[in-house]
Amino acid sequence: MASETALPTRIERLSELAHNMWWSWHRSSRAVFTSLDYPLWSLSGHNPVMILQDILPSRLRQAAQDPAFLALYDRAIAELDSDVMRNSHWFARTHPDHSHRTIAYFSAEFALHNSLPIYAGGLGILAGDLLKEASDLGVPLVGVGLMYPQGYFRQQIGPDGWQQEVYRQLDFTATPLVPVQVLPGGRCSPLASISLGNRTINLCAYLVRVGRVELYLVSTDVEENSPEDRDLTSRLYTADRDRRLQQEMVLGIGGVKILDALGIKPQVWHGNEGHTAFMMMERIRRESEQGHTFEEALERVRNSTVFTTHTPVPAGHDVFSFELMDEHMRGYWQLPGADRQAFLTLGQQAPSSHHFNMTAFALRTSSKSSAVSKMHRTVTQKMWHSLWPDLAEEDVPIAHVTNGVHLPTWLAAEIAELYDRHLGKDWMAGSDKPSTFEKIRNIPDEELWAARREVKQKLITAMTLRAQDCWANGRCSGQQAVAMGALFEPSALTIGFVRRFTEYKRPTLLFHDIERLKKLVRDPWSPVQIVFAGKSHPADEASKHLLQSTFSASLDHGFFGRISFVEDYDMHMARLLVRGVDVWLNTPRRPREASGTSGMKACMNGVLHLSVPDGWWPEGYNGTNGWTIGDESLASSPAQEDERDAAALYDLLEQEIIPLYYKRNRKGVPHDWLQHVRSAMKSISPQFSARRMVKDYVEHMYIPLLNQGQPRR
Ligand SMILES: *Cc1c(COP(=O)(O)O)cnc(C)c1O
Repeated sequence: MASETALPTRIERLSELAHNMWWSWHRSSRAVFTSLDYPLWSLSGHNPVMILQDILPSRLRQAAQDPAFLALYDRAIAELDSDVMRNSHWFARTHPDHSHRTIAYFSAEFALHNSLPIYAGGLGILAGDLLKEASDLGVPLVGVGLMYPQGYFRQQIGPDGWQQEVYRQLDFTATPLVPVQVLPGGRCSPLASISLGNRTINLCAYLVRVGRVELYLVSTDVEENSPEDRDLTSRLYTADRDRRLQQEMVLGIGGVKILDALGIKPQVWHGNEGHTAFMMMERIRRESEQGHTFEEALERVRNSTVFTTHTPVPAGHDVFSFELMDEHMRGYWQLPGADRQAFLTLGQQAPSSHHFNMTAFALRTSSKSSAVSKMHRTVTQKMWHSLWPDLAEEDVPIAHVTNGVHLPTWLAAEIAELYDRHLGKDWMAGSDKPSTFEKIRNIPDEELWAARREVKQKLITAMTLRAQDCWANGRCSGQQAVAMGALFEPSALTIGFVRRFTEYKRPTLLFHDIERLKKLVRDPWSPVQIVFAGKSHPADEASKHLLQSTFSASLDHGFFGRISFVEDYDMHMARLLVRGVDVWLNTPRRPREASGTSGMKACMNGVLHLSVPDGWWPEGYNGTNGWTIGDESLASSPAQEDERDAAALYDLLEQEIIPLYYKRNRKGVPHDWLQHVRSAMKSISPQFSARRMVKDYVEHMYIPLLNQGQPRR
């Protein structure tokens, strides 16, 4: 195990900077680590904890005496202190009566930075962005999740285009994780236990600091457990139902117990997606154990619970058979207050069902539920109408809080610097206000275009370096290097299709008419290049075939090397891609995309969104900030939907998008294109910021529950 190099006293708080994920969204803190040792910053994959382990003591001694470095260091420390200690954040100012309350936020994944790979995709990104924004706004939130030592897989694409999954054991010492209680030898000490099947398993917890917010990650990997139990939470989203149920028990039941063991007593509990439903169950059980009738216990829990659902597809919800539940909850059902029959009934979607639906249970045990976009709300009300048969569909009590993304995490430094120059010093504080972004119109074309070109160059450089590295190391053939984008060029209009590979997102829609696509890609005067990236779920063969056919297009000489597939889409690649392409393509089958957030990140960086009217886009599109493919009518069949949308997509590309991009003034600047870019940045940044989202959760979900308090006994 590596350990940290001893720090000179003058810069001893470097360790604190490195162990608070705050560094990941503050330029001042990142500047400290990049200037400390840029090669290590790069080699470690932007991991300050690892830098402090590997750095030479002589470099630290030198830095401790270097005035330029010390100025950066002092500034970052001062900013951290004032952000973390100060008590005048938005929440404290607007809700002073509640600033000592606690809101617990449970989620199966949290994506904070690629150096902590405990996320798979959009759900985790949302949860991570929410924690960061809660810290920025001073919302008294505490996060609860699971620690997955192997996380989600790393993706490698074989020479035949088939996805290979590589799991790596995370080196905990190279992360900001600290055991909440430590045993000799640095081991994570058990804090609580839960009944699983006939056995009791011990749980420990790790703490991750996210600015002011604390995130607790529950783990079963303690010596007292059997090897199988230690392994229970090793990987995220296993396809194995047994293990998945047990993981969710560890998250929900275990999470409640860990908070209790730490003396944290939340007044509001927020479950992110159905995976967290056992959190509600355990709290009902505890209330019953303390002498409340089941009905009273349920009411008390409902009155303090918020739930957000993310899945517009019925098959996407976690459902467990009663048999499987009984097998793993045998011990749990014996506990005081665990009313098996009543619990199972609350999880039935239909009265005759023998399955426990996590979402149904969560909806029935929370008094505030929300979907993640306006359109998703309508779909969700319809999907769960059976739970409220006496109400009209539009009265089903599910609201919506449209997703948003954390601006400081996703905005390119080049764009942030433009804003520093043109929007005034405090633009970040007002990043949920449309007026903040009005001055974007004053940014001169040349400056805006230069910033856009710079971020694009960064993406293309990263792609070509990866291709070069793969080829030079003998892992890839020359052909594969071409498929990775070795022939990409910065001046060509670049379209990104970057998202989880799955049938409903239609990654191959662009290939609907291959000849038409080739013609447009190869045009010598207005070339187009397309970059694909995304992972297939390891158990989803059909999606791996889609990925493979995309990959084979990248090898087709007829495309001139202008199609590429970038391996291993993670937060790092996401940052490069959402900033660096020109057009962000989104083609889900409607209405299957609950919200989607990658398009928001793209728009904020001046990338233009080209999307079917699904998820968040109908709320975002204003006629000048991107393009909508087709209209809102529903197709009669999937084949007809593909036919219609592909035709609309090609028409838009050929008639509007490509000509607009290549229409240049005498200086080579595309003025009209930049007008769209400005419109996208201006309209999308405030409305789809995590700041707006977190304020919505606070005002519409948390505060009403806090005001109402616990019901009378
Ligand atoms: C933003 C993001 C997502 C979410 O993408 P959508 O396609 O909008 O759902 C998934 N993965 C990563 C790595 C992201 O950064």
